[in-house]
Amino acid sequence: MNERRTILVRYDEIGLKGKNRDQFINRLVKNIQMQMKDLEGLQFKVPHGRIFIHCPEELSVECTSRLQKIPGVASASVGVTREPKFDALAAVGVEWIEPLLQPGKTLKFCVRTNRADKTYPHKSPDIDREVGSRILRQLHSQGLEVSIKDADYILEIEIGQDETVVFNNRASGLRGLPVGSSGDILGLISGGIDSPVALYRMMKRGCRAHGIFFDNRPFMGRGGYDKVVKLSKLLNGYQKKSKLYVVPFEDIQVAIRDHCRPAHRVVLYRRMMYRIAQSVARQKGYLALATGESVGQVASQTLENLNAVSQVVNLSVFRPLIGMNKQEIINEAKELGTYDISIEPHPDCCSVFMPPRPATRAKIADLEVDETKYPWEALMRDAMTKMETVNVDTLTV
Ligand code: ATP
Ligand code: MG
Repeated sequence: MNERRTILVRYDEIGLKGKNRDQFINRLVKNIQMQMKDLEGLQFKVPHGRIFIHCPEELSVECTSRLQKIPGVASASVGVTREPKFDALAAVGVEWIEPLLQPGKTLKFCVRTNRADKTYPHKSPDIDREVGSRILRQLHSQGLEVSIKDADYILEIEIGQDETVVFNNRASGLRGLPVGSSGDILGLISGGIDSPVALYRMMKRGCRAHGIFFDNRPFMGRGGYDKVVKLSKLLNGYQKKSKLYVVPFEDIQVAIRDHCRPAHRVVLYRRMMYRIAQSVARQKGYLALATGESVGQVASQTLENLNAVSQVVNLSVFRPLIGMNKQEIINEAKELGTYDISIEPHPDCCSVFMPPRPATRAKIADLEVDETKYPWEALMRDAMTKMETVNVDTLTV
C-alpha cells in the first residue's frame, strides 16, 4: 500500500525567540526545503508554528536522515494517519515496536497523546492507557515493558480536528539555530582537525560560515588545498550557499622568514591571516571571524599570543573551541565526519619554516618592530588581488 506519511519536525531554541519566532521558523522551513528540493511529492505545512512535511512513504527514511543534519531541528518523527480508534492506533504501535524487540532484552515504552480536538470523547491519559495496554498485551512476552519516566521508545498520538496521526519514536537532530538566522561569518579554515569543528559550531548558532584558507602550494604542494576543499564541501552539506576564499600566502611567509625574528614567525603569520580575513569579511559584509584556536594548545595559542593576534583586527573573533580539550575536539570531528579528512597526512602551512623555539609570550611592541622590516601592506594587497573565490555549492571534489 502506498500510504503517505506525515513527518513532524520539532525545534527547540527557536521557541524562545519571542516576536522574531516566525522569522526563525520561516528560515528553518526554507533551509529544510532547500535540503529536500530534489525529493518529489513533499508538501510543507506550518500550522501555528508547527512544521509538518507530508511525503510519500518511501521517502520518509531519507527525509528523516536529512532532517537530522539540519541545524535548528531538535527532532523528527514519522507519522501515519489512522482512525481515532484504540485498536487501530495500537496496531501501528505493534507494527513499529515489534521489530525492535530482541530475545533476552527488555524495551521500555510509553504512549503520549496530545488531544488538540477537545471534542474527542476520551482524555489524553485515558488514550495513553488504552492504547498502551493493547500494545503491551501483544508484545509483553517478547520483552516489552511500560515506563513513563524512562522510556526507550515513545509512541506519540496527535488527535486533531481533521485527522489523528500516530508518530514513531523521535529521531534526534542537531538542535541549535537555523543557518542564516544569525548572519554570515568568515572562518579561518586550515586542513587541521580543529577549524572545521569550529565552523560547524558556528553554523549551529545560526551562522552561515564561509571559509578562508591561506595556501602555500609552492612549499607544501596542493595536498592542503585539496583537504580544505573536501572539508568545505562536507561542511557546506549542513548549510549550503557558502564560499571558500583561497589566499596565496607563500610570499608573505617568505618575507617574514627573511626579515623577522624566527621565534615570532607563527604569530606574525597569524597576524597577517587575521588582517586579510578581516579585510575580506568587510568587503563581503560578513559580521565576524571564527578560528579553531584553543587556549594553550600550541605555542601560538597562549593568552599572550592570542592577544597579540587579536590586536590587529577590530571585528569580533569567535573561537568556539577555546575551552575544549584536544580529545573533545577530536571526538566531535569524528562525529561530524571531518576527522578522517583532517588526518590525511599533509603538513600545515604554519609549520613551514617553523623555528626550533617559537615564542610563547611574544610582546606586541616587538612584533610591531618586526612588521616594520617587511612591506606587509603591499604584500597583503597583492595576496588579496590574487585571491580565488570558490562557490562551494557547485564545487566537485
Ligand atoms: P586546525 O588548523 O584545524 O586548528 P591545527 O591545530 O593544526 O589544526 P593551528 O596551528 O592550531 O592548527 O591553527 C589555529 C587556527 O588558525 C586554526 O584553527 C585556523 O582557524 C587558523 N589557521 C591556521 N592555519 C591556517 C591556514 N593555513 N588557513 C586558514 N586558517 C588557518
Ligand atoms: Mg589547532
